[in-house]
Amino acid sequence: MADSSSSLVNAHTHLELGCFAHLCPPDSGASFVPWIIELINARRDIAPQGMAPFRAAVEAGIETLRASGTTVVGDITATGESVGPLLDGGLNGIVYYEVLGLNGDEALGRLSDARRKINEWRRREGVMRVGLSVHALYSCHPDLFREGARWCVAESVPLCVHAAESPAEIELLVNGTGDFREYQRAFNFPDFPIPGLSPIAYLEDLGVLEARPLLVHCVEVSDDDIARIARSGSTVAHCPRSNARLRCRRMPLEKFLAAGVAVALGTDSLSSSPSLDVREEAEAAIALHAATVPADSIRALLDSPMPLGEIDHA
Ligand SMILES: [Zn+2]
Repeated sequence: MADSSSSLVNAHTHLELGCFAHLCPPDSGASFVPWIIELINARRDIAPQGMAPFRAAVEAGIETLRASGTTVVGDITATGESVGPLLDGGLNGIVYYEVLGLNGDEALGRLSDARRKINEWRRREGVMRVGLSVHALYSCHPDLFREGARWCVAESVPLCVHAAESPAEIELLVNGTGDFREYQRAFNFPDFPIPGLSPIAYLEDLGVLEARPLLVHCVEVSDDDIARIARSGSTVAHCPRSNARLRCRRMPLEKFLAAGVAVALGTDSLSSSPSLDVREEAEAAIALHAATVPADSIRALLDSPMPLGEIDHA
């Protein structure tokens, strides 16, 4: 088994969300949509404190990664606060700056702001690179995905997307119903176009798979979806402890591995996971997939090469 002297990969974190560790659901889990609304409200509530809570969480998170022997990380930051510490921190990997928005014009405005910031940060890249995260299919207008992916392909910028995480996401995208429809109405976006497609088919339709993104979660996937991911050369981040605590189902890891998809393990943030130690994520994955994937195959994912979509788009 990989030990603390190994080069471990934690493919999915949101270090800055460590300040919301108190929102992490218990072992028995919590429903996805109420949890994410609680997270949004918590972010609003600490806004008067500025960036200090996020900055402190990033510093603590980097220390935890180092202590657990992690040398490669795929981190998402919505505030931008983790970019500087990760660029300067000696860890390898990608820090993705996140954009979201259901109003098309507003979202595209945020994208151009993000592009400007990412271009600035990229001048300071070393072993840590800077990428773009377009948050998730239920929280982003399709134009944001189209334009974001087009830019990532043109500029060789790594892209990360949360996809196919919960049954509620399927219900929204296929049928236009369920908890996420209520979430969108609560944020006053009743006109979100329902694609009538699975999340992965929708990403393909939007041109997102051409950017060969790091796809986070990929729990709710059909065999056709797995084939789409394999064909595109995209990579997948598997976060079983976060999935369990948000009452998502079992990700079909054995099918991804059989299809030759690059899979890496990720802890996700401390707001939905009990630790940032990816070795503990591997143990959880071994227990979850005991009937279908050998333990050694799962431990091998801890140091899988090129796990974060670090590819040359040219
Ligand atoms: Zn995430």
